[in-house]
Amino acid sequence: MRSHTTAETEVTGPERHRGRGAEQAASRLAPPSDNLFHTPERHPLHPASAAASLGHTVVLAPHPDDESLGCGGLLATLDDLGLPARVVVVTDGTRSHPNSREYPRYRLRGVREREAKEAVSHLGGHPLTFLRYRDCGLPEAGTLAFRAAADRLAAAMAEAETVVVPWRRDPHCDHEATWALAREAVRLLSPRPRWLEYSVWAWPEANAHLAPRAGEAVPWRLDVSAAQDRKRRAVRAHRSQTTRLIADDPDGFCLSADMLALFDRSWELFLAPRDA
Ligand SMILES: [Zn+2]
Repeated sequence: MRSHTTAETEVTGPERHRGRGAEQAASRLAPPSDNLFHTPERHPLHPASAAASLGHTVVLAPHPDDESLGCGGLLATLDDLGLPARVVVVTDGTRSHPNSREYPRYRLRGVREREAKEAVSHLGGHPLTFLRYRDCGLPEAGTLAFRAAADRLAAAMAEAETVVVPWRRDPHCDHEATWALAREAVRLLSPRPRWLEYSVWAWPEANAHLAPRAGEAVPWRLDVSAAQDRKRRAVRAHRSQTTRLIADDPDGFCLSADMLALFDRSWELFLAPRDA
């Protein structure tokens, strides 16, 4: 589950992508049409009103900021449509600045939760649930702790008609672990909610190793142009991740301008896996 990354990769963006050479080679070999992240503009674009079909939607964010980057437009659109939604933040995100003296873990957790609340207030003020698992510390599949975490997640998703979870091969241990936990949790729900996946970290290189393949999922885009300004405000609310607010950790994480640009689009891409 955690083969792509290790704990230390949490703090440095480029390090999130292990084995880049091999993956890029694979990417060159694969036909672009087989990589669903390649030229995503070819995928169907649904109007904002199409989000009405999702019903009560629960977005799972492995860290505070994933909800805004990957699903900010969707969350604002659901609010426009008068649909209920919930954001579940799974980990505390406190490994973003592991060496800060000014922001030790519990202070940083408070900062990140306040940022998430402010961000979601720009997206309709949907309710938030913080599960507060330790960043890079989600339980391994097959353990009792994993089952207990799945129970907690199922309770948070109890009303969901649709769940939106991280893409299963998003290259970060918490993103992969959140996917696995969600998979376990929905088995506890009846009726089972509709299942969609979104990517944050598999996007940047659109490489064939991490990206969904044709036949693996049905991709579609949601037009979020009317929500783009609100999404920008939500992303910017995560100041600890988008600025040097925390200045005393040279290893501290900061989203790059290139990464931010990737999420500053008039549409968001969702994947309906064929095995969901
Ligand atoms: Zn994340």
